[in-house]
Amino acid sequence: MNPDILSDIPLSYRKTVPVLLPYPFKEPFDYIIPHDLKVKKIIPGTLVIVPLNQRKEIGVVWQDHVLSGNLSLSLTPTPKKEKRKLKEIISILPIQPLPRVLMQFIDWMANYNFTESGSVLAMAIRNIRTLTVPLKKEYGWIKTSLLPTNLKITEKRKKILDYMNIPNQAYTTRELTENLHIKPSVIYGLEKSGGIFKQPLTNFTQFSKPDPNFHQPSLSEEQTKATIFLRKQVDKKKFSVTLLQGITGSGKTEVYMQAIASCIEQNKQVLVLLPEIALSAQWTNRFYKRFGVNPALWHSDLGLKHRKQTWMAILKNEVFVLVGARSALFLPFYDLGLIIVDEEHESSFKQEEGVIYNARDMAIVRAKLSSCPIILVSATPSMETLINAHQGKYFHLTLTKRHGGAIMPRTELVDMKIHPPEKGHFLSPPLIKATQEKLDKNEQVLFFLNRRGYAPLTLCRACGYRLECPHCSAWLVEHRSTRKLVCHHCDYSIPVPLECPHCNTKNSLVPIGPGIERITEEARITFPDAKILVMSSDCLNSPKMTAEAVRQIMQKEVNLIIGTQIVAKGWHFPDLTLVGVIDADLGLTGADLRAAEKTLQLLHQVGGRAGRARFPGTVIIQSFLTDHPVMETLIKGDFNQFMIEEAHERKAGFWPPYGRLAAIIVSADTNQDALETAQELGLNAPSRDGVIVLGPAPAPLSLLRNRYRQRLLLRTHKSIAIQPILHQWLDPIKPKKNVKITVDIDPISFL
Ligand code: ADP
Ligand code: ZN
Repeated sequence: MNPDILSDIPLSYRKTVPVLLPYPFKEPFDYIIPHDLKVKKIIPGTLVIVPLNQRKEIGVVWQDHVLSGNLSLSLTPTPKKEKRKLKEIISILPIQPLPRVLMQFIDWMANYNFTESGSVLAMAIRNIRTLTVPLKKEYGWIKTSLLPTNLKITEKRKKILDYMNIPNQAYTTRELTENLHIKPSVIYGLEKSGGIFKQPLTNFTQFSKPDPNFHQPSLSEEQTKATIFLRKQVDKKKFSVTLLQGITGSGKTEVYMQAIASCIEQNKQVLVLLPEIALSAQWTNRFYKRFGVNPALWHSDLGLKHRKQTWMAILKNEVFVLVGARSALFLPFYDLGLIIVDEEHESSFKQEEGVIYNARDMAIVRAKLSSCPIILVSATPSMETLINAHQGKYFHLTLTKRHGGAIMPRTELVDMKIHPPEKGHFLSPPLIKATQEKLDKNEQVLFFLNRRGYAPLTLCRACGYRLECPHCSAWLVEHRSTRKLVCHHCDYSIPVPLECPHCNTKNSLVPIGPGIERITEEARITFPDAKILVMSSDCLNSPKMTAEAVRQIMQKEVNLIIGTQIVAKGWHFPDLTLVGVIDADLGLTGADLRAAEKTLQLLHQVGGRAGRARFPGTVIIQSFLTDHPVMETLIKGDFNQFMIEEAHERKAGFWPPYGRLAAIIVSADTNQDALETAQELGLNAPSRDGVIVLGPAPAPLSLLRNRYRQRLLLRTHKSIAIQPILHQWLDPIKPKKNVKITVDIDPISFL
């Protein structure tokens, strides 16, 4: 037991403490500290096991009030009458209590996002539910950094060595045998010959201290300036927000690594949030080159054991730098010195299910509570961030030059009305020509289309019937690789039918429009010699597979990459010199407030993959809307100007970033029930100055997983706090059991 937490208690005392449980409870419950625990005082944050409805649960001794100054609970005797109903704490977990800032953060986050503190706590301690079970010792394999010169490299050994492409990373026997289809004996043989060595998995090398001077890059003048500023922020140990904006390939990562170095020098912890776990492999490699060790990782793809170890190491303050997905925000950091949100504009920072929250915004809150600086990094910042920087609320650093003299890619628009592809095809003659030229020069080309599968719609030529999901208001998307029609919202799928389900005509179903599988098919015919790699979430569903794809690109085993939005993120592929955007108009059609902004960011980011090193890059954009402002901006490259003008148009109507939004989604088993509650909400809508309620109206996805959906939108002036209004409005509404009201604060999706 930790002596700091527990000390003897006179047996005459019986006291209670509030314990928050990781379930949708707004408040903690009181539990009695039993005599036999022999404690006088339990510090808030202590993890305890308590009974809850016949089960044993891990809970956390909570604080009385969100931001109360004195967090150590004084234990007053429990009033007599309550005593009988209350249950006793079963035991205390022998680990450090959660840090106070984490508890403050959980309460704040629950309050802001209109959810229960218990639900947020669940995200924070989800991985330790089974913490009491001791961890079995396990071994992993690490590649020897200098392979013995006499090492015989057989085909199978090469497979292993290629696979272990993250330096100092331990790979388990099981992972290697399963993924590479080899026998364990091959691994043992390789160990004997000195190609790999064994290491206990509990001593994760990623928890060892990074060396801030392991490899110092020489920085350009503007990089140096930015670095000095950021290091200063870290040294101040105070809350501040800095937007680090720089064109793609300008060395933003290089620069913020310097701020990380400062933090390591001060023995403080660093949290780096990435929008996509797929990116973590390349990031880890870079970190290793800069600091000589791996960072700790945090994402849903890690095994439970790995996660538990990481969680514990953070609690014990043994982790220096952790890079992770949005859920890393809830880790029990004791001593954060810096938070970085890379690609801060990415909508994947928004969690849309369960507890709905925006990790970018919550990271700012976490930094504030931890009194540490936060750096928001992007080539194409979100409108909120950009406006805050322009208004002087955030510091704003800009990097204008690409590293090593690389120049920004040239962007060309192909007007699809003037240069139509062949009938039934999607690649225009100018794009085909440019692609062939690059392939001939042994450079790499990327085709981007933000649509998975083969075709987004399947239609009957005879009767016009469209194949829809029976559970959602959405079309079924053909996936030719699996010969299925799939709903991208609920994963319902059927084999592609041979006849129309409606009129029974045989062979009448035709695919309409392209997905990346269809583009791949066309590319195979058009460029028969190209070595093609497809990158979408369908084929790259783990960081390991992504790392393998990255390796193939880096080692030039492929020269034509065809991908969805997964390729738009912060990749650095030096020999990629042409990006072809297959359908630039795709995101502009919906009635989404942010359609233009999002499309511009996405296309700008994808284009930014071109020409990042020795050779200049070109971006070819296929569009039918060539005079759309988004296309004009892509040609001119004046991103900030576009955003500021776009923001200006929103000012009068106090749309974000000049106002606040909350979406209210009513869902139910029947349309009638959803409508009834939505109408009741509409009738009771708050009315006062600076507050507007739009709706109810059927959601664009009016049926989702068999639930009927209605939407309302609350919009207020920025000066008005939205949460109290919501409470006043929603708390009295008592809908039928099957009806659910979901609140989405600062929504970015309007489906
Ligand atoms: P960004 O994050 O702005 O897209 P990166 O940090 O990925 O840019 O930099 C692009 C490339 O240039 C990377 O390969 C990076 O290692 C390299 N680079 C940038 N700045 C330097 C520097 N000062 N010294 C060495 N390499 C650099
Ligand atoms: Zn569906």
